[in-house]
Amino acid sequence: MLFAEAILSIVMEIASLFGLAMTRSDYNTPMNKTPFSLAPEYRDYVWGGARLRPEIVPTAEAWIIYAGNRISSGPYAGRVLAELAEDFGTDLLGTRAIARTGNRFPVLVKILDCAQWLSLQVHPNDEQAKKLEGEGFFGKTEAWHVLESEPNAKLIVGIKPNIAAETLTDSIRSGTILDKVESLEVKAGDTLFLSPGTIHALGPGLLIYEIQQTSDLTYRVYDWGRPETGKRKLHIEKALAVSNSNVTTSVLHAPQVNDGDVKTLAQCEYFKLETIFAEKKTIDLDTLGESFHGLTVIEGQIQVSAGATLPGTARQGKCAPHATSSRRFFGSAGERETFILNKFETLLIPAICGAYQISPLTKSRVLKASV
Ligand SMILES: [Zn+2]
Repeated sequence: MLFAEAILSIVMEIASLFGLAMTRSDYNTPMNKTPFSLAPEYRDYVWGGARLRPEIVPTAEAWIIYAGNRISSGPYAGRVLAELAEDFGTDLLGTRAIARTGNRFPVLVKILDCAQWLSLQVHPNDEQAKKLEGEGFFGKTEAWHVLESEPNAKLIVGIKPNIAAETLTDSIRSGTILDKVESLEVKAGDTLFLSPGTIHALGPGLLIYEIQQTSDLTYRVYDWGRPETGKRKLHIEKALAVSNSNVTTSVLHAPQVNDGDVKTLAQCEYFKLETIFAEKKTIDLDTLGESFHGLTVIEGQIQVSAGATLPGTARQGKCAPHATSSRRFFGSAGERETFILNKFETLLIPAICGAYQISPLTKSRVLKASV
C-alpha cells in the first residue's frame, strides 16, 4: 500500500468511528486490495435451532454475505457492504456483476438451522417481481447446499407430477397443499437449484447454506397451522400468481473430489457456487476482476494469502469468529496479507484483488460464492 493510501484508510477508519460516511468521491482512489470479513446478522425465527448461536435459541438464520453486512476487518471496518458496492462499483463487485445488476450487491448468502419445518413458500422471477411489486424489485432464484442432515431429514421441492394448475390453485386456497408436494430426503453434500415458481420448504434436522439473488420477495403458501401474525402472513394470491407446477428440481449429490479440486455446484445468470476441497495442496484462485469471491469454510481451517504486498514491520494475526469490530488480519512484511479462516467464517475477496491462494491448515472444504 502506498503511504498516501495508508494515511487515507486511517482517516476513513477514524471518520467511520464518528459515523461520517466517506464515499469514493471524497478521496477518489481505487479500492484497497484487501479482503475483509463481514459481521454475520442473525434472525431468530420460530423454526430455528441451536447450532448457529448456542447462547441464543432459537437462531434460525445467519446472514453471512449480503448488502446489509457490516465490514468487520480491514480498512473499511465499520462500513456496510452496500455502501462499499455503491462507492467502489467494479473494484468490489467485478465487471460481470456490474454488467448484470449495477452497483447493487447481487447475492444473499445465509446459513439456515432448521429445527422445525419452515413455511412452504414460493418466489417470483424478475419479471413477476416487477409486475407484482413494482419497479426496482427483483425475483429470487436460489440454491441450497446441505451442510448437515439428521437421518431421514426431508425438504419439499415442487409439486408431484401430473397435477393440473387448477388443482394446485384449489389446494393452495384450501390449505391442503401438503398432499400435492414432492418431499425428498437429502444428505450432507447435496446441492439443489431452485427456479422461481418452485414451491419449497426446508425440514427439521437440516443445516443449509443458501445462496440467492438479493431480494426480499417470498410468498408464503402454507405455515403448518402456525398463527398468521403480522410477521408470518400467508400470501395466497401472489403465491398463486407465481407458482409453477411444471418446474422440476434435481439434486446434485456431492461430487467426487481430490486434493486441490474446485468444482461447480450451481451456476446461473445470478450466481455461481463452487466447492473447494484441500487437504495439503495450496490452491491458486483469481477473481480476474470479473466478480468478488465470498469464501466460507464449512470444514477445517484455511489460510488465505491475498491483496497487496505488506509494507513495514512483520505482523501476525488471526480471524476472530464473528468479529464485530475493526479487527485486522496481518501477514509478514514483504509478503501478502494472510487470513486464517475457521469453520463457518467468511472472507470477502474484492474483484480488484485478482490472484490469491488458499492453503489448508487441516483437511478443509470451502464454499465459494461469486457471480
Ligand atoms: Zn426460498
